[in-house]
Amino acid sequence: MELDSPVDFGLWGYISHGKAAKFRSWVSKDLGISEMAAHQKFGASVRDSDLIQFHRGYGWLEVPLLLEEVPDFIIKQSVKISVSDINPEKGANYCEIHSLYHGKGVCPVCSGNIIHRGRRST
Ligand SMILES: [Zn+2]
Repeated sequence: MELDSPVDFGLWGYISHGKAAKFRSWVSKDLGISEMAAHQKFGASVRDSDLIQFHRGYGWLEVPLLLEEVPDFIIKQSVKISVSDINPEKGANYCEIHSLYHGKGVCPVCSGNIIHRGRRST
């Protein structure tokens, strides 16, 4: 993606204890992949209790709706909002106005360079 492209958003959180299988089942449906593929893609991070991205590709106005319906396999208090695929724990910048983790430069919500509604097809 070019730096100038409008960005979309993701949600991250920690898996609730004992809910890794439920997460894999959910994410395999969400991504349209098999549970085995989901296990291969996410198994390690689930085991290590890393922060995982459980939503991606959404417009900014969808984010409050997603926050109201956090799946029960995610620890709700741990949820963080980011530009899609920007890991909040891997050197991301943070905008206090929008509670948003983002990449280099200014916050895309502050600058208005965002997708507003809908979900990007992956
Ligand atoms: Zn901002």
